[in-house]
Amino acid sequence: MHWFPGSAPPRHLKITGAAPAFGFERCEDQSCTVAADGTASSCGRLACPSCGCGGTNLATALLLDAAHGVEVRCSCGFAWVRETQPSLLLSALAASG
Ligand SMILES: [Zn+2]
Ligand SMILES: [Zn+2]
Repeated sequence: MHWFPGSAPPRHLKITGAAPAFGFERCEDQSCTVAADGTASSCGRLACPSCGCGGTNLATALLLDAAHGVEVRCSCGFAWVRETQPSLLLSALAASG
């Protein structure tokens, strides 16, 4: 299946540890890829749609003027806005506080 004509979505990689000593681990589902909105196709985790990495390489910032969105920045330099449901947003707030 081709999500993006001409460019395949990146494989999902799980990132652990802290910069610059990131640990890279393939997703347990080897067919897992990352869609354009940052959702891994198989496991549903959050990951970078540019490089496929998800985990401690990602930093999220709530967009206060966009009630249902968070900005996610990856250590590769890619950043995107991810829409979230209000309940998920609340749990993100609780986790950061
Ligand atoms: Zn995955
Ligand atoms: Zn990235």
